[in-house]
Amino acid sequence: MIEIENVRKSFGPLEVLKGINLTVAKGEVLTVIGGSGSGKSTLLTCINGLEPIDSGRILVDGVEVHAKTTDLNKLRRKIGIVFQQWNAFPHLTVLENVMLAQVKVLKRSKADAEAEAVKQLNHVGLGEKLKVYPSRLSGGQQQRMAIARALAMSPDYMLFDEVTSALDPQLVGEVLDTLRMLASEGMTMICVTHEMKFAREVSDRVAFFHKGVMAEIAAPDQLFGAPKDPELQKFLAATH
Ligand code: ADP
Ligand code: MG
Repeated sequence: MIEIENVRKSFGPLEVLKGINLTVAKGEVLTVIGGSGSGKSTLLTCINGLEPIDSGRILVDGVEVHAKTTDLNKLRRKIGIVFQQWNAFPHLTVLENVMLAQVKVLKRSKADAEAEAVKQLNHVGLGEKLKVYPSRLSGGQQQRMAIARALAMSPDYMLFDEVTSALDPQLVGEVLDTLRMLASEGMTMICVTHEMKFAREVSDRVAFFHKGVMAEIAAPDQLFGAPKDPELQKFLAATH
């Protein structure tokens, strides 16, 4: 479970997270929507400890992410994160790219890492691309490779930050299908996305961020069908 308690975070004079309270249960799919600069990415980077917070706390399975005594490397192994773009190592094959962190970080044997990489690449539909170099993949395939790489670390949580935003429209669907599959398998996920139809279909709950505030959080039918917050109403009207 991920527990976010009254988290505040500023960059210099700019307060980016203004007291966020949110709990994500095991197996839950939460999507986060909101305008550019509303603090969505910052929230994700705070959850896995990439960014410090100013006050409040974040607990992952009861462990306080920003406590001095917390072993961040150990905690991060529980949390896979996939961004808009991941720069794979160009001189390594797809298979080798998905093996690398398993060997370096988890200290898995090469054989175990390879078996896991093959399994996850098959899972995301890239079983035919094991020996190919990343530059030969389409953008959608590259994103699925990034997802396979994160999954190969056996995370308990997956954070996705606009993983389809850099893709040509015809490639978005295959990546969303991969996320749908993970959701249906019970993965605990936080997905920042601009894909409203996807958010509506896949989410247990949807959170709307506006200027560092979580202005509304609700089940998708409620949030999209009967939005209460005026800024959310404006946002939804503008995205149609
Ligand atoms: P979103 O993902 O919702 O678009 P972000 O969390 O990326 O928003 O950013 C929120 C605000 O914080 C923006 O105004 C952004 O410019 C600012 N910001 C993000 N990261 C940094 C940083 N490392 N240093 C300074 N300002 C930042
Ligand atoms: Mg962002």
